[in-house]
Amino acid sequence: MIFFLHRLSLYLADLCRLLFLFFILGSNTANAQLVNKISTQQYCILKADDFIGEEGSAFFKFFDLIKEKNIKASVGVISSGYPISNPSNHLVTYVQNLHNSGQFEFWNHGNTHKSYSKNIKEFKGRAYDLQYKDMMHGQDIMKKTYGITMRSFGAPFNAIDSVTSKVIKNIPEINVWIFTQDGITVPKGVVSFPEANQTLIEHNPKNDGKWNPRPNYEAFKKNYDPSKKYIVSQLHPKRWTNNKDWAEFEKIIAFLIARKVRFILPTDLLSTQVKLI
Ligand SMILES: [Zn+2]
Repeated sequence: MIFFLHRLSLYLADLCRLLFLFFILGSNTANAQLVNKISTQQYCILKADDFIGEEGSAFFKFFDLIKEKNIKASVGVISSGYPISNPSNHLVTYVQNLHNSGQFEFWNHGNTHKSYSKNIKEFKGRAYDLQYKDMMHGQDIMKKTYGITMRSFGAPFNAIDSVTSKVIKNIPEINVWIFTQDGITVPKGVVSFPEANQTLIEHNPKNDGKWNPRPNYEAFKKNYDPSKKYIVSQLHPKRWTNNKDWAEFEKIIAFLIARKVRFILPTDLLSTQVKLI
């Protein structure tokens, strides 16, 4: 009897080992498939800068196009701009509708967008209190006037310094920072994307000596890297004043849609699914 019980316990131990092995192998295979599936997915963040709410501007054409294509885009607000800082009821409703649609994210692009000198910009080379005040100006206006809490920040000219990092650390609402630069510490818990890793959609920034960014399909295709997990592109839709600009942009969007690229918003970088890759 004792012998029989001993054999039975050995048998049960073997069975447990087998079940354990089966479970581990099974789940590993499932994990491998998941990783495979996710790593082939490419994500695109459209970062449209300099929104101040002028109805009738090309920015509104941009909104219509994004809606029509059923994709997503993020919009950088200059908070002291007019009319965004003192809007009509119509503009408030319009912005709120874009926000509520889930297709658009409004993010903090500073208060003044000022360049004080070659090396001093709104968020570069200025004291903590001044940078903090300028960043909070946008947070306050968007919350009070539109009921929107902005969760992402991108500096005018992408000009930043270590003080900007401290300011972001002390504004817990800001969770995403696009773009950052080498040598600047990103506060813990904040997701960032380096400017150097940008995929350019706009090209020919100098036109007759003036900075004049416009979408360029051929240049984009040269920049495009299918192995990149993220395509993040800075845009200036207000400057796309020719039909050709829009045609080029549409070609780029069609190219990305055909490749099954998923358009996401900056705060989507905080979601587990996107971050997993
Ligand atoms: Zn800007």
